[in-house]
Amino acid sequence: MESKTLVKKYNVPGPRYTSYPTVPYWKNEHLTGKDWLKVLKKTKGNTISIYIHLPFCEQLCTFCGCHKRITKNHAIEEPYINAVLKEWFIYKKHLPADLTLTEIHLGGGTPTFFSPNELHRLILGITDGINISECRMGFEAHPNNTTEEHLETLFKLGFRRISLGIQDYNLQVQTAIHRIQTVHQVLNIHNKAKEIGYSINHDLIYGLPFQDLNALISTLNITVEMRPDRIALYSYAHVPWIKGTGQRGYNEADLPNETIKSESYEYASHFLIKQGYLSIGMDHFALPHDELSIAVNNGTLHRNFMGYTIQKSTRIIGLGMSAISDAWFGFAQNSKHVESYLSSINRGEIPIFRGHLLTAKDLEIRTKILELMCKFQTTLPNNENHRIQIVERLAPLETDGIIEINKDQVTIQPEFRGFVRNVCMCFDEHLFNQPRKENTFSKTI
Ligand code: SF4
Repeated sequence: MESKTLVKKYNVPGPRYTSYPTVPYWKNEHLTGKDWLKVLKKTKGNTISIYIHLPFCEQLCTFCGCHKRITKNHAIEEPYINAVLKEWFIYKKHLPADLTLTEIHLGGGTPTFFSPNELHRLILGITDGINISECRMGFEAHPNNTTEEHLETLFKLGFRRISLGIQDYNLQVQTAIHRIQTVHQVLNIHNKAKEIGYSINHDLIYGLPFQDLNALISTLNITVEMRPDRIALYSYAHVPWIKGTGQRGYNEADLPNETIKSESYEYASHFLIKQGYLSIGMDHFALPHDELSIAVNNGTLHRNFMGYTIQKSTRIIGLGMSAISDAWFGFAQNSKHVESYLSSINRGEIPIFRGHLLTAKDLEIRTKILELMCKFQTTLPNNENHRIQIVERLAPLETDGIIEINKDQVTIQPEFRGFVRNVCMCFDEHLFNQPRKENTFSKTI
């Protein structure tokens, strides 16, 4: 079947599998901070990764689906950082004394909304008394408000990776998504980061309003000219029905149709590979020297809520409003509102509002979905009934040549890696047992 026809056939709503079970299927709606601390204590080992959600942005980008708060009031910085530190101190009391931090990631929102001084105070407070000799640190940055001082301060603290939110350089697209940033602005911050010694990632999006293939080609050309170490190429998730997203200011009719979107993905992935980038996993490309490329070649790539990583940590603590924590056997999410987050912390409570404790079956499927996402292959489950069901669901993908099943082994063919979410969906028991409304998830391709 022709690739375009396949895209049409398989471009259905589906999860992005940053967790399994995916958030709409989490069962423990009333999980409390106390319950969560008990789960964490059961997790073995003394290594830990930390994700810190810094939710403030000065301006709303209308394509955004993140948990953020739009404000120009920088007086919020100090109390928010105080709260994050307080949250961490609560956790610390319940974690092993000889902790080793393996990863810190600052996400948002806009981490560079915060002044270098506040970020400095935050990181010193988090890492105080903890072994960070093996710690990999990265942050997300908005090219319009990241200063040289941000770059230098964070580098001195140990940060080595910066992820620049680019999306697209076309003015009509930028106007529609309410995010104007010139090539000059990006180049300026990119060059400074490079000079200081950062590994640089550029985030791009395809499928944005008014973004035709020419706009994407031009953005890709500008991007490879700067030669970032990594490029993340995300499909725009149009989910205006989810409360709190900023997706307004354009109509469905302004979005590129499925044919343009599939041509965009195909063009971009071929182009980036031709330019010397390696396809890492879903949506990601990296130069051969990058540690993600090395991990792909060694078969040691991992994926968690923060994206692809080379660190396998069984305990990730999410700090800040809406942040998600992961103890492998369970997930927990913090309150999604700044005010309720702050007030829980001020009462001395971990601000968890929901979570999920994984069953043995969940854990087995979680491992398989992770293998598909990182290695594009996995094995069928041992349980005969379960295995038969999955093989039945995979049959159309096998007939269409997207996957190959050889005895127990399921492999996604290299040219069809863009269909990885569809393959994962065949393993997803929750999705099959309780299908969700059409508009719960974005489309897979
Ligand atoms: S895309 Fe980033 S900067 Fe824009 S509103 Fe969303 S979180 Fe803020």
